[in-house]
Amino acid sequence: MHCTAMGFNVVRTTSTPLSLSSTKSIFSSLNPTTTSLSAIFPSKPIVFPTISAPKNAFRRGIVAMAAPGSLQKSEEEWRAILSPQQFRILRQKGTEFPGTGEYDKFFGEGVYNCAGCGTPLYRSITKFNSGCGWPAFYEGLPGAINRNPDPDGMRIEITCAACGGHLGHVFKGEGFPTPTNERHCVNSISLKFVPANSS
Ligand SMILES: [Zn+2]
Repeated sequence: MHCTAMGFNVVRTTSTPLSLSSTKSIFSSLNPTTTSLSAIFPSKPIVFPTISAPKNAFRRGIVAMAAPGSLQKSEEEWRAILSPQQFRILRQKGTEFPGTGEYDKFFGEGVYNCAGCGTPLYRSITKFNSGCGWPAFYEGLPGAINRNPDPDGMRIEITCAACGGHLGHVFKGEGFPTPTNERHCVNSISLKFVPANSS
């Protein structure tokens, strides 16, 4: 088994999703008028081509948009409620230094919630010691984690499905003896542990 390096991202600002105005102009310019075509070809059904925007634009849009019942906030609101460290990692996709995180070698029984919005993300029974320097889980709670390829296509980013907060990356096929052969490599700062015996 081996660890794929989690790496250190240069902190970048949020990318701008495809603007609505440019989408509309593309659609309207490609949409022919029905009347003129049916006048020319009255007997043939008119099939308009399916128009699809670049996949990346949609993917980013899904990340940026709120799912029903989710916990979206403006970046200014996040900055007000998160610590500078939490903001850098959760909102700016930073990475904590390996071996320094609060939960790297922590194995208490309970649930790990999103440090941004409090949504439960991982159960402690899915945590394992990867030796990589960051908390490792072999699976998240159902529907709690979103996956998206990094812009460079090298790694799969994982985010909190409710608030979009950056958690870390997920790696497959590293050979760890877990049920999924996956490693969710998560920043401790993105998590808040809740002991099982707390009420
Ligand atoms: Zn969250």
